[in-house]
Parts: sequence; C-alpha cells; structure tokens
Amino acid sequence: MQYFLGVDVGSISAKGVVIDDKYNLVADCYLRTLGRPIDAIKKVLADLKHNLSNSTRIDGVGTTGSARQLAGVMLNADVIKNEIIAHAIAACHFYKDVSTIIEIGGQDSKLIIIRDTIPVDFAMNTVCAAGTGSFLDHQAIRLGLPIEEFGTLALAAKTHVHIASRCTVFAESDMVHKTQLGIQRNDIIAGLCDAIVRNYLNVLAKGKEIKQRILFQGGVAANEGVRVAFENTLGTRIEVPKDFLVMGAIGAAILSCARANGDTKFLGFDQGVDQKFESRGFECNDCPNQCEIVEMLRNHDIVARYGSRCGKWE
Ligand code: SF4
Repeated sequence: MQYFLGVDVGSISAKGVVIDDKYNLVADCYLRTLGRPIDAIKKVLADLKHNLSNSTRIDGVGTTGSARQLAGVMLNADVIKNEIIAHAIAACHFYKDVSTIIEIGGQDSKLIIIRDTIPVDFAMNTVCAAGTGSFLDHQAIRLGLPIEEFGTLALAAKTHVHIASRCTVFAESDMVHKTQLGIQRNDIIAGLCDAIVRNYLNVLAKGKEIKQRILFQGGVAANEGVRVAFENTLGTRIEVPKDFLVMGAIGAAILSCARANGDTKFLGFDQGVDQKFESRGFECNDCPNQCEIVEMLRNHDIVARYGSRCGKWE
C-alpha cells in the first residue's frame, strides 16, 4: 500500500491529510494558522505522524493554499498547486457529476465551475472580507457566541431580517442597528447568513452558470445556516462533502500521487520541518489593499512569500 500526504495552508487554517493509493482518508488534521504558518505546518505534520503507524511510508507530497510555496519548501513537496485545482480534483474524485463548487474559507472565497470533471472557469475573492469565515468569526465574538452555534441559531430564526451585504463595515453597523431596534438575535444571525450568500453571489457568480451538482466546501460549510441560505437563494440543493474541511489537502495529496508515482522528494515527518527559517515582512503599496507581505528565508535565500491578496508576490 502507498500513502500520500497533502497539506493546505491558508492564512486562517492549516489542514493536512494522508490518503492511501485508493484515495481513502487515513489521517487528517485541521488547526488554526494563528499568523504562524511555519509552526502550523509543523503541528499538522506532528499530528498526522501521531495518528499513523510507524511503518507508514509517504510516497508523495502535495501542497496547496496561500502558503503552498512555504509548505512546499518545508516538505520538499513533489507538487505545489493552487487551491482551485486542489479543490476541483478532490471534488471530482468523490462526486464525478459535480458541476459547481462553492468554497468559502477563513479569508477568501471561490466559485469553481466544472464540466465533465474539468474545471472550466472560476472566480476568487481575496479582497472583500464580508463573505468569508473571518467575518463570521468576528461577529460571533462580538455577540459572545461560539461560532459553532451560529448555524443552529440561524435555523431557529422566525424571520430573516435584512442585513447589508456590501462590506463588513455596513454589515456590522446594520447588525448593531437591528439589535438596538430589539430584533431577535436568531433573526439577525439568519440575516447575516443571507447577507454572506448575497455578497458571495454578487462578487463571484455574475455571468456564471451555477448548476447541479453543487458542493459547498471550506470552513464556512460547517455553518448550516449559510448552506440553507444558499439553498433558499438559489432554489436548489447544496451538498456539503463529508470531508469538506480538508478537500483542498485531499486534492493536493491526489495530485502528488500522480506526480511522484512513489518516487518522492519528501524529507520525512521530522527532517523537513527541523530546518531553520527566518521571516521578514514589508507592505505592498501598489494598490489600496496595502497587503502585508511575509518573506520566508532559508540560509538567507528567499524561499517563499505570502500575504498578497492578488498573488503578485507569491
Ligand atoms: S499585493 Fe499589492 S497589488 Fe496585490 S492586492 Fe496587495 S497591495 Fe494590492
């Protein structure tokens, strides 16, 4: 039996999986990046190693996510691919007839259009936070609620209040205003789920044909309120895959299976991550986003950059 490692590192979360050569999930890990991607990658590897038998040998490694280059360097990955391809590969493996992937992560969102198992179009939003998981997290903290309860509370709403969806500032001030009017908390949360869906469709879906079969992946797919809001808005069924949190990592692992073919460059669970890295940062002023770009160095050589919302520096 062969085994393949996939690692998906974003600005909010880091995910890792090990699959076998039949693409069955053998081990998986999901944790917060907490602004320290190197530590997060090390923890993902340690967690996966802990859940594997000592005899498990890795035959291929793939990385994806906004810190895919960094993870690729640390692990000596055989394949480094963007999240669009990784999510599409995993979805098409488990659902041969998938036509649309809605993916909402911590800090970005994507719409992937697939026809006959080939990704033919996509849209990605890395600029507006209003339709992402970090905005939901922020609102949960502001309301003093665990984010895990958001979906249940939204589904318990008696009515859906309208919340502005154009940007986070308008949405938040609208929520405060509606709270001051005495509107029930559940109705506001349901309105927030609707607003996230409106924002997503306005920003990403213009001119795109969203048709069955539709999968909802990424961290926000855990929120049943958002899934139901998509169903109500689109008037069609939205499915959440069993391993929705780690679909990108599974896709990266599948890609490494094809690329490495058992002849991996992987340095091992310990050796690769024991190397010493330094980091430094700068601000990109080429547009109003003013992204904080982080550069990773190994032996004074730049080996990875991440943090740009447009991909310019990566
Ligand atoms: S990296 Fe620079 S150009 Fe790209 S979005 Fe950020 S600030 Fe704008």
